[in-house]
This record gives sequence, structure tokens and C-alpha cells, in this order.
Amino acid sequence: MEIFHISAECYPVAKVGGLGDVVGALPKYQQAAGHSVRVVLPCYETKFKNENDFECVHWGTVELGNYNFPFSVLKEKTDKLGFELYLIEINELFNRPNIYGYEDDIERFLSFQIATLDWIIARNTTPDVINCHDHHTGIIPFLLQFAYKYESIKNVKTVITIHNGLYQGWFGFDKLYYLPKFDLKHVGFLEWSNSINSLAVGIKCANAVTTVSPSYLNEINISANGLESLFNSVRSKSKGILNGIDIEVWNPMKDQMIEENYSIDDFEAGKRKNKEKLCEQFELDPSKPLFSFIGRLFEEKGGDLLPHAAALALSEHLGEINILILGSGNSEIETQLTQLRNDYKGNYNVFIGYNEDLAHLIYAGSDYILMPSRVEPCGLNQMYAMRYGTIPIVRRTGGLRDTVIDFGDEGNGICHDQASVADVCYSINRAVRLYEDKINFNKVLKRGMSADHSWERVCQEYIEIYNLIIQQNEI
Ligand code: ADP
Repeated sequence: MEIFHISAECYPVAKVGGLGDVVGALPKYQQAAGHSVRVVLPCYETKFKNENDFECVHWGTVELGNYNFPFSVLKEKTDKLGFELYLIEINELFNRPNIYGYEDDIERFLSFQIATLDWIIARNTTPDVINCHDHHTGIIPFLLQFAYKYESIKNVKTVITIHNGLYQGWFGFDKLYYLPKFDLKHVGFLEWSNSINSLAVGIKCANAVTTVSPSYLNEINISANGLESLFNSVRSKSKGILNGIDIEVWNPMKDQMIEENYSIDDFEAGKRKNKEKLCEQFELDPSKPLFSFIGRLFEEKGGDLLPHAAALALSEHLGEINILILGSGNSEIETQLTQLRNDYKGNYNVFIGYNEDLAHLIYAGSDYILMPSRVEPCGLNQMYAMRYGTIPIVRRTGGLRDTVIDFGDEGNGICHDQASVADVCYSINRAVRLYEDKINFNKVLKRGMSADHSWERVCQEYIEIYNLIIQQNEI
């Protein structure tokens, strides 16, 4: 089967969060399972782009209303990621260091989607399935079906995978003229609450919708930033598939980014060395339990709870625990977290920013990982943490509900229900007591470490969906 994944992120080319991890891994495992897999993403100004060799396989001009942007399709020459990687180079729009956050993001990602389809239609072969990811690629299923110029590939089946339903890619009908010509009787597919909503378009028009965990699929029927009724109406073509993790990239036995490699058989010595390194770097006390957070500092991640919860826990357990935060996002949260450094020197520290190497060391060197998320479509941190022998402390939501079971129920982590400072601190208290009970602590840790979250099994679930929608065509 020929499968295209179209995405804004793909590790290690360009990553902001879990979307990048998934699109870096799922295609690799699909290719290894015998399929022809191609990943397409915009050509940002990244280290990966600069350090690897590419060949130009196609060029053209994207028409975006009255604007014309020359584009090239660049293929990474060696397929080193385990699949064919293609970058859509539109210098005017993407030759920038960041992936998102520009005023012209709508123009950027619309151009990316149109250029991708212009290229696909120019190829000699037609893919069996196009798997779109999140709102940045949500217009593709609509264009394929209704834009006149893509008529000859209109039967290609599409899946949209929702990694985060909060972000939806809204834009006004004043930009409708950006889209390639289509029969206006289909304009209703574009509309949601009087705007064009890229994610809603993808959900309406794709042949199948997947979310990155079963629980998240249930939750977005109740709360989805305005799309609840839409999710309800497409339930019959939707499936929640729990993400896997790339066990080659995230492997404490081989990870080059950590201080000392270890396995489930010698985790105590291995984790101690990593913890000592981390504590030395951040002036923390390695003899005390270390609670860490890695992620985007936003309300959806419970980032707003962190400053207060950290202060409360650190004063209640004065000198007895360490807390370390790695992340960036809301500037007010960043400031509050930075200020805390003055009050709890030696037991608290924060690194504002994005740092892949440090994230690996934190998973390896921490005792607990904090995930007080309000919304967590899947969450990868808890799975990475468990693989590295770090116990997750999570709010039961989305994929956290599907992967973490409280140690009171013979599980692999610590769970609470409310996104509140009180619940986070209650869980930290339980964690401090568990840490003192080394036999039980190690039991919980080992349950997490021995769990199988690999992509092999999961990637087959995607193939089953592709087969199902392809067969629908043939009936
Ligand atoms: P998200 O909602 O952000 O996609 P996920 O849990 O699905 O959350 O994935 C987060 C991914 O991003 C993980 O690989 C995590 O280690 C990584 N990550 C998040 N913030 C940072 C950061 N500041 N530095 C390094 N890695 C980070």
C-alpha cells in the first residue's frame, strides 16, 4: 500500500511536541511492515535541512488567490529516517526558524497543502491513502474531493488524525478565494460557526477520523473547543488509537543523550548516575526525590497550576524534595516559575526553553514526572518516563487515563482526578511516602518499565483503517 503522511512536524526534522514524535515514528514502522510510506512536510530552516542532502524531484508555482509562490519538492536522498521524506520548499513562507506562530500561518499552511496536492497529481502513481495530521492539513480532504484541478485523484482515501483538537486553524470567508476553484454548492463543508475551520473541514471530508487515544475520542464528544456536535456526528467513522513510542529513539539502554545507559536489570545504579548529573547541573540535592515536568507551559498542560503547586509542595516538604521544570509557553507562567528559584535554592530549578537532550536526561534522572494536564489527547511524556523508570504522576484525562493506573490498584503511576493545586500536592505527598518505601517504589517503577508501548502493534491498527476505507470504495 502506498501511504502519504502530510504533517507540519516530523522528528527529527522539525518538532514542537507529540505530533513530531508520532509522524517521525508511525511511518517508519509502517514502512518496516512492508508498505511504501512517504512523509511530506514544509521545508523550514532547520538543522536537519542544513545537515542532510536533498534532491529536487518536482517544482511548480502555488497559486493562493492572487499570490504566486514558487515551490520545490525536495527528497532526502538516503531515506535515512526509514521512509521517504519530502520537504515542500516555499522560501517566502517557510524559510524561517520556527514552525508556527507567524501572522501568515494560514497562508503558509494553505500553500503547503496546495503545493503538496499539485505535486501528488503530477506524479506517475497515485497513493492509496493520504493520512493528514491536525488542522494544518485539514483542507486536503476537501480539496481532493471538490477542487476541479484535483479531479483525477479525487478517489484517493483520506484519514485525518487528531493530535490536538484545541487548535483548529480558523480563518474568515474573506480568504475563500485562496482555495483552488471548486463547485460552490460544496462550500458548506468549509463552514463552522461562520468561519472556515480547517480541522472541522478535515473531520467532515476525510473518510476516517482517528484520535491519538480512545479516551480522548470519548472526551471530545463532550468538550472540543466548539466541535463537540461535529465529533458526535462522525462517530461511526472515528477511532481512537493509542500512540506508541519509538523504542529505538527512546531506549535507556542505548540513548546517547543520557549520562549512563541502563536496563530494567540495573536501573538503580543507572538512574542514580543520571540523577547525579542532572542534580549537579541544576544544583539540586540528589539524595531527595526529584519531581520533574517537561512540556509546553500552557493551561491545557496544567502549566498554570505548577508555580503554586511547586511552592506549596516545596514548603510543605522543606529541603526534602526537588522539583525541576523544563518548558516554555505562557510568559506569565514562565516568570512565576523563574521567580520561585529565589525561594527554594538547592531544591528547585527551571529551564525555560526547548532542549531535546535535556528532556532525555530528565526522563532518565528523575524519580517522578508531573503531568497535571487539563487536556491530554495522548501524552507521550508518561510513556517515555515509564520506559526510563520514572513514575508518572498524572491527572486522569485522555491518553493519561489509558496508560497510567494508580499504584493503589497495582498500577504503574500515581493518579488524581481534578486539575487543581490541591490534587497535585496530594499526589506529591503520596509520591514522597512511596519513595520512602523502596520495595513498593521499585515495583511500581518496574511495572512501567516493562510495559510494551511499541509502535509495531499500533501501526497495524492504522493499516486496518486504511484497508477498510479502501474497500468501501470497491463495494
Ligand atoms: P504535546 O501536547 O506538547 O504534543 P506530548 O506529550 O504529546 O505533548 O509530546 C511532548 C513531546 O515534546 C515529548 O517528546 C516531550 O519530551 C517534548 N517536549 C515538550 N516540551 C519540551 C521542551 N521544552 N524541551 C524538550 N522536549 C520537550
